[in-house]
Amino acid sequence: EWADRGAAKIVQEVVNPQTGVATKQVIKKGIKDFKFGDVLGDGSYSTVILAKSNDSGKKYAVKVLNKEYLIRQKKVKYVNIEKNTLQRLNNSRGVIKLYFTFQDEASLYFLLEYAPNGDFLSVMKKFGSLSEECVSYYGAQIIDAIDFIHQKGVVHRDIKPENILLDKEMKVKLTDFGTAKLLEENSDTKTYDLLERSKSFVGTAEYVSPELLNENYVDYKCDIWAFGCIIFQMIAGKPPFKAANEYLTFQKVMKVQFAFTAGFPLVIRDLVRQILVKNPDSRPSCREIKRHPLFKGLNFRDGTLWEAPAPEIAPYKV
Ligand code: ATP
Repeated sequence: EWADRGAAKIVQEVVNPQTGVATKQVIKKGIKDFKFGDVLGDGSYSTVILAKSNDSGKKYAVKVLNKEYLIRQKKVKYVNIEKNTLQRLNNSRGVIKLYFTFQDEASLYFLLEYAPNGDFLSVMKKFGSLSEECVSYYGAQIIDAIDFIHQKGVVHRDIKPENILLDKEMKVKLTDFGTAKLLEENSDTKTYDLLERSKSFVGTAEYVSPELLNENYVDYKCDIWAFGCIIFQMIAGKPPFKAANEYLTFQKVMKVQFAFTAGFPLVIRDLVRQILVKNPDSRPSCREIKRHPLFKGLNFRDGTLWEAPAPEIAPYKV
């Protein structure tokens, strides 16, 4: 539920300075507890503002959504999807953290982890392309984050470079779960079942999978498709399916019509070829992708993947 009157109840651990004993206390947090600074960006339905906690000085990104506008545009549903999804995914390494939400009369607020290094699209644009070392490093974190959300029964459905933020250590943080699909847990098997066919188009033309265009069908494999497009883009400097307009882009996607740029590294070419196939069932799973030679030597099980310092960003040289 959205907390009332601009404040959210949160449980904080308080250490008694005399005894050193930690106790849990319920405190209320609201906009009055933060100093608002620069606007970090605008979305279609929100403004994201940098905010600093008055007591700790910690920086946050606060997403502010105007209630009246959301209602008028019939977008309330998506805001709730975003909130519920982020709450389900909390405390994961590769997903932006949602600390808490609150509201006042006019707005809804998401208090999010601040990602000071911008988004992955800006990085790719700045360098044109990325070295194989970078493709392996960032690719590994992106696929690990996708694997994690899938295991939690979440299909993102709009994986693209703008929705991959970078934290202060240049680690990957997936964001923008407003169009995600949250699957119900099957109480017998404790797994998440895909229950229905999606009825509405979601996603972005350049990263949308052929099955969504052909059969209006999405499952986990649409996120894998988008991952393949991003891996391609890291080397080529542009996504594999790109045309003058959306319609022409869709034609290319449906025909899986793309071409590698000159000097495209063979190992990455191989992975892209495996992923960008029309039949979603023939596409590799996250687990299979992690075993690909591009990620040789990386350990996906012990977390070292997320602890290794980020390589210096350099463009790919043929
Ligand atoms: P849309 O909802 O239209 O797809 P969007 O996803 O870009 O747009 P928001 O999630 O509202 O919309 O974000 C708007 C902008 O704010 C982003 O493009 C990004 O530049 C910035 N931003 C969002 N979240 C953060 C964050 N946690 N840390 C730093 N900057 C952020």
